[in-house]
Amino acid sequence: MSEITFQDLALADPIQRALKAKGYTTPSPIQAQAIPVLLDGNDLLACAQTGTGKTAAFALPILDGFARNPRKPFRRGVRCLILTPTRELAVQVMESFKTYGDGLGLKVGMVFGGVSEKPQIKALYGGLDILVATVGRLLDLKQQGHIDISQVDTFILDEADRMLDMGFIRDIQKIAAAIPQQRHTLLFSATMAPEITKLANGLLHNPKEIRIAPQGTTAEKIDQHVLFVKKTDKQNLLLDLIKEHQDSSKNNELSLVFSRTKHGAKNLARKLCSAGIEADSLHGNKSQNARQKTLDLYKKGEVRVLVATDVAARGIDVKNITLVINFDLPMESEAYVHRIGRTARAGESGKALSFCSEDEVALLREVEKLIKRKVPIYDHDYHAAQIEHHHTSGAPAQKPKQGGGGNRGPRHGGGNRKGGQDGRRRIRPQGGSKSSSGNPKPKSDSRPTGGFQKGAGQRSNRSRGRNR
Ligand code: AMP
Repeated sequence: MSEITFQDLALADPIQRALKAKGYTTPSPIQAQAIPVLLDGNDLLACAQTGTGKTAAFALPILDGFARNPRKPFRRGVRCLILTPTRELAVQVMESFKTYGDGLGLKVGMVFGGVSEKPQIKALYGGLDILVATVGRLLDLKQQGHIDISQVDTFILDEADRMLDMGFIRDIQKIAAAIPQQRHTLLFSATMAPEITKLANGLLHNPKEIRIAPQGTTAEKIDQHVLFVKKTDKQNLLLDLIKEHQDSSKNNELSLVFSRTKHGAKNLARKLCSAGIEADSLHGNKSQNARQKTLDLYKKGEVRVLVATDVAARGIDVKNITLVINFDLPMESEAYVHRIGRTARAGESGKALSFCSEDEVALLREVEKLIKRKVPIYDHDYHAAQIEHHHTSGAPAQKPKQGGGGNRGPRHGGGNRKGGQDGRRRIRPQGGSKSSSGNPKPKSDSRPTGGFQKGAGQRSNRSRGRNR
């Protein structure tokens, strides 16, 4: 957080009041840099890692503009258009505008696919000050004549890198061509890949550039580790880690598990439930309403474990996620940064554990190349020394085929786990015991030996769950 306070920023009184009500006093670095630039009317190209407060960085100055220069909405019209890659992010952005703009009497709306168009069309009819939209539904409604974007004066692309990953480049260009050239344009991206620069060159006019973290930098406060494990042991390891997290953390602490495939997410959530853990899944096969319901339960802490795919997890902004587990490493290394950024939100700390099986060595190497450092190794009972050796030896490794989630069930009988008498599997004498491959464990590193300090007394539960 920076030295200045929100009071030092020239934001209109109702916005200052809303910030006070929210308990925000100090702008985050992206806010401290972006707000003055945007209040001056500049276009902005911002590279900021997830969880840095980027939503308020653009929402506050935009709302300030509305507070100082109120414009009357016109039929089916929109003044400020924000594009997001996912429905979840759209919801989150809209909620932020509503919270910070409380007291301004603005009409804020949202359109996204996967739900009925009717209420959205109805909301658009009278016109909106601010519209948050996903690309596909926006174009559909525009084509049908339900929305007029010809007088948009502020155009914001949020998480533009993700929209490009999802193949929306042509749609974005189509939308940009339909709104006035004379406009205020902001582009936010977690990374500054060459395609982003190219897109920005086409859309922004003399933008100010802000880079809060260099490309690929992961949130500083996240304690990251890799766990080498055979595919067949992944589920048992997951169950153990989740149980330990629940035993050692406060009731309101949540964990988020990433699976590469929709089927894998569903399957894992089911396994966790049958082991007595409140879990649910979030993936693209679920209807929008079901996804929102799951998210609400998760936010309330009624479901403490969420298993999600990348697309579904993109917009998750939940404060109490203290553990992220990559059950599968992502195919695109940049997704790693976004995934682990779901913990340690708003300056909190968090833990990110990534499973790496034999066919994921190439993916781990890509992650380490991107974040420009080695991910420390985490000691556990299922440690597969031969995979670690493959990784560290630099021997060639191939990426797995797309869609291969590696989400196979455990071997019957609970695998080859050793299980210390005290219930803390990870704590064992250095160099004294064997890994699951039968090889001695490497001795000389600073591996953590159990970040979660409890866990005794849960063994019977775990075994029951595994064997179902
Ligand atoms: P974002 O990067 O926009 O997704 O924001 C991450 C989280 O930080 C959200 O939960 C915000 O509500 C929170 N947040 C944003 N700005 C501040 C601030 N200045 N002080 C404290 N929390 C903030």
